[in-house]
Amino acid sequence: MISENINFIRKSIDAASSVYGQNVELIAVTKTFPYTDVSQALKCSIKHIGESKIQEAIPKFAALNGELNGIWKHFIGHLQSNKAKKAVENFDLIHSLDSLSLAQDINRHAQNINKVQNCLIEVKVSKEDTKTGVRPDDVESFYNSCKNLSNVSIKGLMVITPLGSTPEESRNYFRSIHSLFKKLQFDNANFGILSMGMSDDYITAVEEGATMVRVGSAIFGKRDYGNK
Ligand SMILES: *Cc1c(COP(=O)(O)O)cnc(C)c1O
Repeated sequence: MISENINFIRKSIDAASSVYGQNVELIAVTKTFPYTDVSQALKCSIKHIGESKIQEAIPKFAALNGELNGIWKHFIGHLQSNKAKKAVENFDLIHSLDSLSLAQDINRHAQNINKVQNCLIEVKVSKEDTKTGVRPDDVESFYNSCKNLSNVSIKGLMVITPLGSTPEESRNYFRSIHSLFKKLQFDNANFGILSMGMSDDYITAVEEGATMVRVGSAIFGKRDYGNK
């Protein structure tokens, strides 16, 4: 089942990426799913896995042990400052950088272990106040502030579309974030990652220029939050 799902998603991504011709990485979002499922996905040449909670990810990574060699681990959930140290120690790319104080905390913890931590700026497109992320108008100045942090490397942007958006509503968000991405990328080849699209809208996201999609339930099935 998992392998059929992954094959189907890969074919869909290939077709959708013909618009821009970009290379697209598929992140298998493994939150709430057991390490045995992750293991199956890794057998299908999945190179990227995503988790959204530190306390869930760390024991799962430990259970997978040697299977994670060469696999990129992505932190995709909201990151609180008191979890920044563990995130730096355990993840290759943090998708949810949303404040300067968090960036400073990440920088400090990365310095302590001689690491340059790769991060994406999470862009807030939802009007709801409860949603985290940097407002589109503020992304450029936030990006410039982060350039002073020697142990943080900003690789691009991440966006989560508002819950309940139809793919066509999402398309408008994707399109505007893609143009912001292109603007910031203008003179920086290192700024190359645009993380957008989940199970319900990854095809649209790829059509609109995503270079990373974060797909969970379309690979592993329905998530059961009550039983993890
Ligand atoms: C859970 C999650 C996903 C994957 O969601 P699916 O709808 O299961 O594909 C992607 N991105 C983030 C930030 C998530 O929290």
